Amino acid sequence: MTQLPILGIDFGTTNTSGAWFDKTGKLKLVPINEKSFMLPSVVWFASAEKSLVGQGARTQVIDDPKHTVFGAKRFIGRRFNSEFVAQHKDKFAFDIVEGPDGYCAVLIYGQAIPLTEVAHLVIKDITERAKRAAGHPFRECVLTVPAHATVRQREAVRVAAERAGLKVRAIINEPTAAALYYANLKSPHQTVLVFDLGGGTFDATLMSVKNRVVHVLATGGDAFLGGTDFDEAIAGHFVQHFERQNSVQISQNRTVMQRLIFAAENTKIFLSKVTRADLRVPVIAQKQDGSFLDFAYSLSRAEMEKIVERLVERCASACDDVLERAGLQPEQVDELVLVGGQTRMPAIRERLHRFKQISSDKEVNPELGVAIGAAILGRNLAFKRDIGLKDVVPMPISVMMPGGRTQEVIAANTPVPCRASLSLEGLPAWEAPVPLVIFESLDSTATDREVYGTVHIGSEWRVGKEVAPTLALDMGQDFALSAKLLAPGGMQTSLQIVDQR
Ligand code: AMP
Repeated sequence: MTQLPILGIDFGTTNTSGAWFDKTGKLKLVPINEKSFMLPSVVWFASAEKSLVGQGARTQVIDDPKHTVFGAKRFIGRRFNSEFVAQHKDKFAFDIVEGPDGYCAVLIYGQAIPLTEVAHLVIKDITERAKRAAGHPFRECVLTVPAHATVRQREAVRVAAERAGLKVRAIINEPTAAALYYANLKSPHQTVLVFDLGGGTFDATLMSVKNRVVHVLATGGDAFLGGTDFDEAIAGHFVQHFERQNSVQISQNRTVMQRLIFAAENTKIFLSKVTRADLRVPVIAQKQDGSFLDFAYSLSRAEMEKIVERLVERCASACDDVLERAGLQPEQVDELVLVGGQTRMPAIRERLHRFKQISSDKEVNPELGVAIGAAILGRNLAFKRDIGLKDVVPMPISVMMPGGRTQEVIAANTPVPCRASLSLEGLPAWEAPVPLVIFESLDSTATDREVYGTVHIGSEWRVGKEVAPTLALDMGQDFALSAKLLAPGGMQTSLQIVDQR
């Protein structure tokens, strides 16, 4: 057993939370203030060197939007030159630029600050709060990531935690952590579908739970769908209304857009409790005569539900896909477990009524379950118990040959750890090393491909050989990827996976 408990950290797109088990085996949550256990994942830079994390930073979204970074998790570990970044980077008032390593960074007072640095500040803050609450430091952690996080994104959060002085004992998928929490809460023997809709991503994961061990059966969802998309849709509606009424263009003004998105989020949260909300965002445009215009609107829950209907439908159809993949009907799911703050929207629950039982937020806490699940894994690791989970590969891993032919090597939903191989027969007989690009992709469309790296197969393995070598890809329990070349005759050589831009 390690000396100190292992801290479970849910570094979320919107909020971050932490939990651990103390010496007596009691679960503890990291307090943020008297009322809350959630630290807003927001960093405000007073200068390139001086920053503030959490609620104080969140208020700066209005006052100093250019230097207030939020939603960074959506961009961490992503190459700047990717379709996702091109589509989303201009929605923020802060500038997302290319860092020296080709990955996304934020431009703060003329300096490109890598997103791993921003993430590190949030993780460091929650770790220090945990230290103050526990009365001792934490040296190790379990981190959670969305089920659809790419291998590079997992590496990036690991780097961020290491920079905060923590050894990362495990990185697990958020819905799997939520299921661990559920399994320990109820100790059931059940099939559960974890519906995890947080700020930035949506994961639907089907699991069987038995004797507190979680076995993932299938995973799916939408890596590009989260609470922020709801906010943007509602803000888009506000913009249309305002522009129509005042004949003034505001959609190009990123600062105004950020303020409207912020107001949209607050209104959305409010409308989970009440059926109508009035909002006012002062001074968002100027008329030709120099006077200022405020934005005022009265939004009903019904009207909001119409605006976000398409997004709710996307969630429901992703659930259907997961069930179909596992060959199950909704009636065969014992409980639908809702996690992630966005599941508090009543329309989500209503749309999923066909499931026979839906978790209640009084029993299963949507926001804190993931951190608690991470703490449970931390406790199991510290006590060298059965770690209590069996996970699967979230996204297929494929290889692209020179010329563009692609071949899937590791299929989605393969249990980890795993090894899969690919015969390299038919590789060009060039003298030069042949590059093979390894990438992850939800489907075979080119746009959502995330290149992991390239391996080079030297001519010594090919030229003049009668039997072609084989490329083996290994994915570890923590989703780390490595490559080996298996030559005829049983010789194995590790291949370096080069992270090329
Ligand atoms: P999480 O990552 O789990 O903290 O979820 C954050 C997302 O949940 C954000 O998009 C929030 O706007 C959203 N959210 C939090 N509370 C509520 C609520 N009561 N109703 C609707 N959405 C909420």
